[in-house]
Order: sequence, then structure tokens, then C-alpha cells
Amino acid sequence: MNPDPSANEAKDDGFDETSDPGSETGAGVSYRSPTYYELKAPPELDWRPYRPESWFRYREEWDERPVSGDPGDFPLHLDLDPTNRCNLGCVMCPRTAFLASEDDRWAPNGFGDMDFRLFERLVGEGAENGLRSVKLNFLGEPLLYPKLPEMIKFARDRGLWVMLNTNAVLLTRGMSEKLLASGLTDAFFSFDSPYEREYERVRVGAEYGKTLENIRVFAELKNAMGLRHVQTRAGMILSEDPRGREKTKADFISLFRGLGVAEIGFGLPTVPGKDYSPLNPKGFFRCPDLFRRVFVFHDGVAGPCCGDWVRSLIVGDANRSTLKEIWRSGVYGELRESHLAGDYGKVPTCRACSVPYLSRLGDV
Ligand code: SF4
Repeated sequence: MNPDPSANEAKDDGFDETSDPGSETGAGVSYRSPTYYELKAPPELDWRPYRPESWFRYREEWDERPVSGDPGDFPLHLDLDPTNRCNLGCVMCPRTAFLASEDDRWAPNGFGDMDFRLFERLVGEGAENGLRSVKLNFLGEPLLYPKLPEMIKFARDRGLWVMLNTNAVLLTRGMSEKLLASGLTDAFFSFDSPYEREYERVRVGAEYGKTLENIRVFAELKNAMGLRHVQTRAGMILSEDPRGREKTKADFISLFRGLGVAEIGFGLPTVPGKDYSPLNPKGFFRCPDLFRRVFVFHDGVAGPCCGDWVRSLIVGDANRSTLKEIWRSGVYGELRESHLAGDYGKVPTCRACSVPYLSRLGDV
């Protein structure tokens, strides 16, 4: 979930309210989806001064769309899953929870990779219609996709900002060189604890020291290649228990700043599959992502948000429709109308979703 033009307006505590895909700041209390809080980069690591004016305009539009309620003719951002496979089994991941259950709604077509021709068609259409950025992951680990550098290059050659989240376990020096040389602009590392034992408990299958070294090398290569505009960010999901949280956050910041990572993000924990409706606001809530981004699963099915892993809010199938048709479809329109009318709870998936609940919490 963040390139952020509004970082200059960060609050005194240095945290920006953010949600995927970058450091997007909420566009006002009623519209924000603070699934993420971010500590902005210190000047020596700041990548924003190396972004062009067009990027700042893009981020302004990112903030404005949910406020105006106008989705335009095309999404600003595409989240696209190169694969729904993963090399880890992290304890807080919805993917892990679903794998352990009988529920296969999150992967009705099994495990697999996106057809590269579908990717080319979607990104090609996007580049001709005002799409500004693409993020190359959703439910899976993108470094498992064999042609990831080709994907990055294809999108970057068409002028898009290219982001990805990775657990960085497979981020070898060679892989980092390929990603950077292909034009990756935003690399987000999901790490989840500054402490070795806790990290390896949460990130099942990952090795603490090896993964940290991968991230350090990526940051070093980025600098050596003179890629000042490339954003790096390390993020962690905080534990439910607030005791010791401030120390954990301070240790996490110190660890990654020491490795040369620019942004630090903290997310609030949620429980996959839990019904959040008793905790959700009864009043007005407008989900901002409905107006600026669309998600395409590895098999081409399209959904409106990162909160619906079980595909109950399908808005189209990119194998059969263009992105523009999906974006302007009746089902998408009805979904937006519920939120615009102040009645998001009319949509059962939104009523039970954790995002409205998170929107009413303060800083983490
Ligand atoms: S389920 Fe509804 S409220 Fe939750 S993220 Fe998706 S669109 Fe937003």
C-alpha cells in the first residue's frame, strides 16, 4: 500500500498517514484509510527531490479523487499480481490463513502466474489512458515470477512508476541489479520485526540475517547506480499488544536507517476473515481506493481493493474486458454510489471490512 508529495506537511511526530501503494496521505479525515503510517525519509535519503513535476501532480490527483468522488475515466494506479505463489508462510498473512482452511475462494483457479500477454495488454492500455503507476504484487511474492524484470521494464518504458512489495528473501545481489536496471522505482520491504527471534517466528521460512543483508545490498546498489529517485521502504505490521510498541518502533527505525532504507512504515494488525462490522463507524466512511486504483489477480479477475481476498466484490474479468470497461462498469458504479451516499454498510463485504475500523483509529 506510497510516494508522497504531502510528506512535507508531515505532522510534528514525523508520521504521515498512509495507505498502499506508497506514502499516500489520506485526503481528509473522512476519506483516509490509514492502514499504514509512515516515517518520512531524512534529507540524505529523500528520493522526492529527484521526482519530476508530473509525479507530484499524480500524487495530488491521488489525494483529490476520493474527495471529489470522481473516478475519472481510468484508474490512476493498477495493482497486479504476477503470481499468487509465495515462498513463505507468515503468520499474519491472509494467504496463510486461507491455505490452512478449507476455504479456497481466494484462489478458485489454484496457484499460478499471470500470462505475460495479459500483463502487456493491461499495462499497454493503461499507458495510453492516463494510468500513472503499477504495483507488481497482491497476494503472492513477486520475486517468484520468472519474468519480473521484463515486466518492470515494459511498464517503465511506457512511463509508469513501478512499485513492488517483497519479503526480500529471494532478493539476491543479481536480482537487485536486474530490478534496478529494469527501472523499478519503488521497493517496499515487508520485514515485521527488528528482532531476530520474533522476525523468524512471524515470517515463517525466512532467515533474519540473510534477508537484512539482501536489503542492505539493494540500498547500496541503488546508491552506487546513482538512482536517487528510487524509493525504498521497510514496513512492519505491529503486534496487537501495544506494550513495548514504542521501543519496537524505535528499534525498527534504527535498524533500517542503518541499512540506508529511506522510508519506514508501520501497519496495524487485522485478523483475516474477521467480521469488523461491530467496530466499524456507523457514520460516514468513503473508501478512497474505489476512486483511484484497481486490483487484478494473477488469473485476470479484477477486484476493487486489497481488503477482498475472497473475491466477493468482483468488478470484472480482464481476460474478457478492457480496464476502461471494468473501471466504468455498472457494478463498480454501484459500489462507489453506496460509499458516496454515505451508506458503505449496504455492501456486506465493506460492512465487515477492517478498513473503516482502521480509519477511526489514531496513530499507531
Ligand atoms: S471491502 Fe469495501 S471498505 Fe473494505 S477496502 Fe474494499 S472497498 Fe474499501
